[in-house]
Parts: sequence; structure tokens; C-alpha cells
Amino acid sequence: MAAFAARSSHSAWGLVRRYRIFLGIIATVLIFHLCFINMRPKPKHLLARTVQDVVQFNDVRTPPGYNATRLPAKAAFVVLTRNSELHPLRVAISQIEDRFNRHRGYPYIFLNDEPFTEEFKETISWATNSRVSFGLVPRDHWDLPDHIDRQRMRDGMAFLKSKDVIHSDSLSYRQMSRYYAGFFHKHPLLEDLDYYWRIEYDAEYTCDIDYDPFVYMRERAIKYGFTITLHEFFDTVKSLWSSAQNFMTTYPHYLEEKNTLDWISSDGGNSYNLCHFWTNFEVLDLAFLRSERYDKFFQHVDQAGGIFYERWGDAPIRSVAVSMFLRKEETHWFEDVGYTHTAFQNCPASPELQKKCHCDPGRSIHLNDFSCTREWVQLPPSKA
Ligand code: GDP
Ligand code: MN
Repeated sequence: MAAFAARSSHSAWGLVRRYRIFLGIIATVLIFHLCFINMRPKPKHLLARTVQDVVQFNDVRTPPGYNATRLPAKAAFVVLTRNSELHPLRVAISQIEDRFNRHRGYPYIFLNDEPFTEEFKETISWATNSRVSFGLVPRDHWDLPDHIDRQRMRDGMAFLKSKDVIHSDSLSYRQMSRYYAGFFHKHPLLEDLDYYWRIEYDAEYTCDIDYDPFVYMRERAIKYGFTITLHEFFDTVKSLWSSAQNFMTTYPHYLEEKNTLDWISSDGGNSYNLCHFWTNFEVLDLAFLRSERYDKFFQHVDQAGGIFYERWGDAPIRSVAVSMFLRKEETHWFEDVGYTHTAFQNCPASPELQKKCHCDPGRSIHLNDFSCTREWVQLPPSKA
């Protein structure tokens, strides 16, 4: 009995009793810490779930004498960007200003899933004399949706990583793609706009644009303008086409009769040939994105989950929509708008256009097999 008692004083219970004061202090600190963390109020921007909630974050800065109502089109440059991209973004904006906007005055709208810093707002404003607005992305338009199977997404990311595909396991890349594919046009700061021109940091605009692309589009009823087309990585869009086929079977009445599906399918609709408009440059009639057919298509694609499971980008999603819903004449290649982003560039071929540019037409992506622009040009007009 005595031996047992001696042993038990060294047992776990014995140790607890021996160090009870010390353990008590640790437990108190731990409970206090947990309570403190749980009770700490969430940062305000994380509570901004809906488009109504984010209105309070809108920060519109209008330079003295600036009058947007005098602009020939209700249009703006729109940029989804991070605070950290401030300086490379200034490069792109300065070039747009130099080549086009300095004497036009179209405004800029900056969107971010985190609040912009005062430094960002102040510094980016130096690049333009136009109105600049800063907006927060609502969480409902950004956070991973509930219907996505987390494990399936992680498996899909690991698969792309094993194949060394760019942005293979980036969740934020997928969120960015989903936002551009289906939500940015619902931001309250875009409410009054008819057209938008998307810009990205580190992009170069290499030619003088001495006409107004927004007015050009409006006068010709063009709904989608692009500069560069590419082929997508197959592994990132494996089941996008079957999802689109499902959509077309379910909603045949949404299809444009004289569509350009031949551009994205080279075998009469059996498979996707991976061609897409490179959306980091795009000029768009926003009525197209606000249309019932576009919205229905986005809902369909979003429910399928391929944005997260595979990595469907906004570019192939947008391109399938454009090909299903628009006639060739409703899309336009801005051949004359010199544009360079990463390794790819659009640089006009004709000497007449080159006079206004600083780019090497020999390096234009259209001469390369990565591009699908030649095939787009060769599409027959819808009136034929
Ligand atoms: P890529 O051109 O397809 O490789 O994609 P990028 O990484 O350049 O992203 C496209 C655009 O979205 C860029 O202008 C980025 O600034 C922006 N972007 C991408 N991810 C995020 C993000 O998580 N938050 C914010 N605020 N912007 C993002
Ligand atoms: Mn980019």
C-alpha cells in the first residue's frame, strides 16, 4: 500500500497536484488569450459582405474643374489591384495617359479585396488629372463559395502543381478570375458606366491612340474589344467545354444564331481548341456582361466549380461567352492599340500604324502559333 502511494505521487495526477499553481496560471493566460482573440472585433472591411455594405468604402476623388458629364462616353478604366502593385501600375497608367487619355479625361476605378492605403490612393493620383475612385470588393463576390468541395480543390491544385502549371495552387488567382468573370461589373462604382477598359500593372501601351475607342465601339455596336489572343493550358480547362455544352443544350435560346463558336471549336463543337481573348486587355460594352444570358452562363460555370477545381480563368470563360452570344462584327481586334504584357505583345504590322508606335512588329504574338488571331480574322462575316 505504501509503495503504491509513493508511486502515485509521481503519477500524472501527482504531478498535476504538485504544479497546480503553475498550471493554473497557464490555464488562466490561455483562456484569457482565447477570449481576447475571439472577442476582438473583425476588421471592418471583412464585414463588408454585400454591394450595399461596400458603398461606405467608396472613395471618389475629383480634381477641381473635372467634369465627367462632358465625356463623350460613359466609360472608365477599371483595375483590380493590390496595394503592393502601386509602382508598376503607375507605369501602365502613365502610358495610357501619354498615349490616349491626357486630353480625354476618362476616369479610373481601382478595386481591391483589401482597403487601399492612403499612400496608394495619393501616389496613384499623381499619374492622372482625371477622377479616381477606390472601391472595396464585397466578401460575397470574393470569398470561396460554400458549394466548393475544399478537398477536391486541393487535389486539383496539387495536380496542376505536379505539372508545373502557372498559378497552379494559387487560391487568390482563382478568386481574381471568378471576380473578373462574374462580379466586377456589379460593383457600385461601375453602376453608371456603359463601357470599361481593363488595365493591369506592368502593361505597356506602345502606340498613340488618336481616336476614342469607346465611341468607336458605340458607333459600330461593338461589344467586345481585344488586342491579344492565346491558347489556354489544357489542364486548366479540362471540363470547361462540357460545361458550356451543357449550358447550350439547356438554354439553346440564349445562343446567337450567327455566333463565332467556330473560333473556339475546330471540330464542329466536339471539343474546345483552347483559343481565348487575353482579358488583361479588354474594352467591353458592360450591357453585355449585365445581360441575362451572360449572367446565366456565369452562374452555370460558377456552380460547376471548375474555376477552383481546375483553374478556369476569366479569359476562357469570357471567350466562350463571347463566342456563343456575339456575332463577329460585335467583337473587334484593336490591331492599332500597341500593347505589351509579360512576354506577349500586339504591335501593328502596317507602316502607316507603326509610325505612331514604339514596338517591334516582328515580335507581335500574332505571328506565333500561340495566338488565335489569324483564325479570328479568317472567320467569315456574319452577313455572309
Ligand atoms: P495573370 O496576368 O493572368 O497572370 O494574372 P495576374 O496575377 O496579373 O492578375 C490579374 C490582375 O488581377 C492583376 O492586375 C492583379 O493586380 C490583380 N489581382 C490578382 N490577384 C489579386 C488579389 O488577390 N487581390 C487583388 N486586389 N488583386 C489581384
Ligand atoms: Mn497579369
